[in-house]
Amino acid sequence: MKNKKIVVALGSVFLFLSCATNPFTGKQTLALVPNSQILPMAFQQYDQFLGENKVVKGTADAQMITRVGQKISKASERWLNANGYAGYLKDYKWEYNLVDDKTVNAWCMPGGKIVFYTGILPIADGETGVAAIMGHEVAHALANHGQQRMSASQIQQVAGVATTVAASGQNEQTQQIIGTAFGLGSQLGVMLPFSRSHETEADRIGLQLMAIAGYNPDEAAELWKRMKANSGGQAPAEFMSTHPSNDTRISNLTAWSPAAKAEARKFGVTSFK
Ligand SMILES: [Zn+2]
Repeated sequence: MKNKKIVVALGSVFLFLSCATNPFTGKQTLALVPNSQILPMAFQQYDQFLGENKVVKGTADAQMITRVGQKISKASERWLNANGYAGYLKDYKWEYNLVDDKTVNAWCMPGGKIVFYTGILPIADGETGVAAIMGHEVAHALANHGQQRMSASQIQQVAGVATTVAASGQNEQTQQIIGTAFGLGSQLGVMLPFSRSHETEADRIGLQLMAIAGYNPDEAAELWKRMKANSGGQAPAEFMSTHPSNDTRISNLTAWSPAAKAEARKFGVTSFK
């Protein structure tokens, strides 16, 4: 019994020693479960989600989600390569899907697995609005925010499953933890908000990604004005008004837009649609 406790304690120490650099801030962040273990679980859960939901195929909207997603992922890659993070996306398997669901939601799981819900399209109001949302969600994934909103005990549970059973045998509780941390929360009835600092970081990074992809970053503030007008309703925490307040977010996005355009110019992007 005593030995078992020691083993568990040692396991905890090792778990809490791993770090990763957030390429967008240069800051060290805890990466308690490495991507090589998290991504296969995320991919499996993504496929399961698609199997249980109505995926829209072949429509103009579905094609737009794919088109914007490809441009945002390309922008991510260009930015990372230019900033000394070549290879950062090597385990990513980008995928962009639209599901028929009136919830105002969109998310990107680690590894580039993206879902837009049809319910968010009226608020996106066109391709540039979709790009603003996509940039924000991809930024959460690139910065590994999902993992950082798991509690320590959730991390340990996921890590335990990851190391012992690999991707094939995750139990329902572990799946729920991963889903909640990475965006599927509304599907499971719980949704932890990202922290305020993570939201702000995702807004700033997302703005740069959309600009490098050729979309006008001025439109991000307009998107959040529409989100504010729609707040409440069918929106999960990620798109509700309070965190940070819509007004703070709108003024930040407005203030940061010129810097995002300047960043895009470094990549030869001079006009924005
Ligand atoms: Zn967010």
